[in-house]
Amino acid sequence: MYNPKSLKAEEFISNEEILDTLKYADENKNNLDLIDKIINKAKERKGLNHREASVLLACENKEKIKEIYALAEQIKKDFYGNRIVMFAPLYLSNYCVNGCVYCPYHAKNKNIARKKLTQEEVAKEVIALQDMGHKRLAIEAGEDPINNPIEYILDCIKTIYSINHKNGAIRRVNVNIAATTVENYKKLKDAGIGTYILFQETYHKESYEKLHPTGPKHNYAYHTEAMDRAMQGGIDDVGLGVLFGLEKYRYEFAGLLMHAEHLEEVYGVGPHTISVPRIRPADDINPDEFTDSINDEIFEKIVACIRISVPYTGMIVSTRENQKTREKVLHLGVSQLSGGSKTSVGGYYEAEPEEENSAQFDVDDTRTLDEIVNWLMKLGYIPSFCTACYREGRTGDRFMSLCKSGQIQNCCNPNALMTLKEYLEDYASEDTKQIGEKLIKEQLETIPNEKVKSIVVDYLKNIHNGERDFRF
Ligand code: SF4
Ligand code: SF4
Repeated sequence: MYNPKSLKAEEFISNEEILDTLKYADENKNNLDLIDKIINKAKERKGLNHREASVLLACENKEKIKEIYALAEQIKKDFYGNRIVMFAPLYLSNYCVNGCVYCPYHAKNKNIARKKLTQEEVAKEVIALQDMGHKRLAIEAGEDPINNPIEYILDCIKTIYSINHKNGAIRRVNVNIAATTVENYKKLKDAGIGTYILFQETYHKESYEKLHPTGPKHNYAYHTEAMDRAMQGGIDDVGLGVLFGLEKYRYEFAGLLMHAEHLEEVYGVGPHTISVPRIRPADDINPDEFTDSINDEIFEKIVACIRISVPYTGMIVSTRENQKTREKVLHLGVSQLSGGSKTSVGGYYEAEPEEENSAQFDVDDTRTLDEIVNWLMKLGYIPSFCTACYREGRTGDRFMSLCKSGQIQNCCNPNALMTLKEYLEDYASEDTKQIGEKLIKEQLETIPNEKVKSIVVDYLKNIHNGERDFRF
């Protein structure tokens, strides 16, 4: 029985409700009156439910799809302006006891090198990431109670936050580790993490069990209810995601939105972010074996439909996607990008020797952070290294209410400009610096409040004179 308020996975992600939703979407995919009504509702910027959004995703009318894309782009501009938040993944360990068939870290894979960073190595990686200009990391580790216990993860977080190399600092550590207990989520919260990220992989229970044949991750309910435990442990910024290609994309899309609705219903706050990874080649993994892989066109449609369905939720695209695809989905709603990423354990401080491949997937955008920052600015975006909300305690419902009130606009742009200025001063190439300084000058003129503008001008001078870490 479908019940978004239930704490049981199979009730808030009801298979029956998803199948009914897909049937409803199929029946109405050419119902232009209904589609217009849904688009008009989305224009109010209060989001759409999974049924409404699924009708739009199923719609094949070219004119209507164009309207959906234009609305996604407009909503993106209204909520995020032209800012793009930058981050990098940091792989701590690829020891894993699970058997996920789409991931080279699965326990039976003997081809890859197994590695786990020591605290000294974590420090070296963090210094290398700081030297690139990163301020925000997502740490990643396989599930292995012996090699990667929660104490190890907590030690790594402590090490990461403790390092200030030159003007560098990691100001927000997001955590992507296996589903765990409320007690462990509390420990992560106390360690000062930003978002807790956990991809559902697939919402389809039967497929989920087949794709995760062995290990603790096999337990669908335990995995699906992880965000509830995270919230109960006090983490109020959680990041959802599915791995597109494992199951029918329309099923996953409905499940993803139902998950978001469940969190909103029970905890009063929806997901902080949604990630949209697609299966990539890796050691032991051939994406062609996954018959539900999605093409670029569908990928773009999914991004646009998510953007108009959950306008307040950040959307993340990693370096799994190439430059061309990233450019397209930036227009349609993506608000966070990784840059200069390494998906192996170690690799920032020192390139991994070829025979020691420990990567989780092949990166399709191999540009440096400087190249990505440069490219974004040429496209008219402001790369932002801002972490202000989390550090000012604006998380969970406080973040959402600020977001919904529209006030976030008064903090984000100034914060983006100041963190970009830090980047330009400390890490940028000459060309990037020139483009960036011009951009900051132009953007200053768009700050409507004169008082805020004059404070930003002062702060920018201070940054030029060597001070760091100003924020609204
Ligand atoms: S997806 Fe995660 S849990 Fe599964 S094998 Fe890879 S690292 Fe382990
Ligand atoms: S002020 Fe908050 S919402 Fe705006 S960019 Fe910074 S962290 Fe994000």
